Amino acid sequence: MAEEKVRYYSTNLNSPEVSFREALLQGLAPDRGLYFPVTIPKIDKNEVESFRSLNYSEIAFNILSRFIGDEVNHGDLEKLCRDAYNFEIPVERIEKRKYILRLDRGPTASFKDFAARMMGRLMQYFTEAENRELVILTATSGDTGSAVANAFYGLENIKVIILYPASEVTDMQRKQMTTLGRNIQVVAVKGKFDDCQRMVKKAFTDPELETINFSSANSINIGRLLPQSVYYFWSWSRLAKDYYDQAVFSVPSGNFGNLMGGIIAREMGLPVRQFVVSTNENDEFPVYLDSGKYKILNPSRNCISSAMNVGHPSNMARIFAVYGGVMNEAGEVIKEPDLKKMRSEMYAVSVSDKQTKETIMDCYRRYGVLLEPHGAVAWRGLTIFLNELKDTADDNQLCISLETAHPAKFPSEIEEVLNIKPDVPEPLKAVEQKQEEYVILENDYDIFRDFILSKYKL
Ligand SMILES: *Cc1c(COP(=O)(O)O)cnc(C)c1O
Repeated sequence: MAEEKVRYYSTNLNSPEVSFREALLQGLAPDRGLYFPVTIPKIDKNEVESFRSLNYSEIAFNILSRFIGDEVNHGDLEKLCRDAYNFEIPVERIEKRKYILRLDRGPTASFKDFAARMMGRLMQYFTEAENRELVILTATSGDTGSAVANAFYGLENIKVIILYPASEVTDMQRKQMTTLGRNIQVVAVKGKFDDCQRMVKKAFTDPELETINFSSANSINIGRLLPQSVYYFWSWSRLAKDYYDQAVFSVPSGNFGNLMGGIIAREMGLPVRQFVVSTNENDEFPVYLDSGKYKILNPSRNCISSAMNVGHPSNMARIFAVYGGVMNEAGEVIKEPDLKKMRSEMYAVSVSDKQTKETIMDCYRRYGVLLEPHGAVAWRGLTIFLNELKDTADDNQLCISLETAHPAKFPSEIEEVLNIKPDVPEPLKAVEQKQEEYVILENDYDIFRDFILSKYKL
């Protein structure tokens, strides 16, 4: 494998380029832009085809080593990949050559496990080598917190503090965070998600907490992005006849990290015919592709696919960067991207809650396939795309729709539509019996700071 070192630049174009390690441990660039590879490594035809005989962790190693270079010893990286991806990743045939890729078999039954588990292990690798301690501070409205908590649980040099809004997460989401213990500290804040987010931001720049080595694990970290390219290669490699068998991927999108993973995979050389960007009623991107005008939705719209209720996707600046544009952290377009190219490579569609529920019903009745709301948005988006573009609707077109969570995580939504209770997978069941541990704090930054000082001051 060619060892050309990939460097990372900031999408705001006003920070020095950094190594993978620096981008990973810093999270956000100093100019508040997002890190992105200066050049995306290419994989040639023969090697892409050869993925068909590799297993998941081998493909993960092949992809990730191109971005990380020799910053992580290759033997160690192979081991990290094996260790992170020790669960099933089924592709389920719906009809003809249309498939669902189930990314819901990880420990928290969310696709966020794929990225969080890799990021945790990479952070541990670097901090251990440097013999330092890291405190991950993150605010969650539910799913990210549980994936991060599980991914970082038991790691030696990393402590995790997760803040969540006390009355805004489901019992299941809370238990997935609070039943771990050890290096995972969970804080329920008597406030809203935005209050948690505000406290986290303040702590990062608080001089009184200067001696604590903070980092974040939110979706803007490059370490949360690159592992999400792997399952695009993997699902294609299980299903494609040959290199010329291009796939249509439908991606249920909120902060657009999942989609970014797919776009990076295509830039590397994965044969992709089209991305269907499926959003819920938060339709700022479909509106943008249509009109050429980007407008943040504030407040965001509440839909049943709750992990996608995002009025301004945090990865939009990266999408713009891939197409030659620049967007700042406030969502303002500094330089227009190549809209024509964007439109030819992405088909964006907004799916209403009504359509989402219809799709859950229809998939179950027609195919016996149970989808949760996010996967249903993707499947509906694919259906709309195929109806609109009749030439791609032939039976030979390979289509892969991403299912990003397990239906058991959305029991009331499923029950409302189908009147059945989804089977609960083992890892989610196990949580039910365990003891919970967390602290409840007032919505007051000074109280939060004192709490941190009492526990983490070195
Ligand atoms: C986070 C999440 C999404 C959205 O993914 P993005 O990378 O933010 O676009 C979709 N489905 C589920 C279940 C999620 O948890």
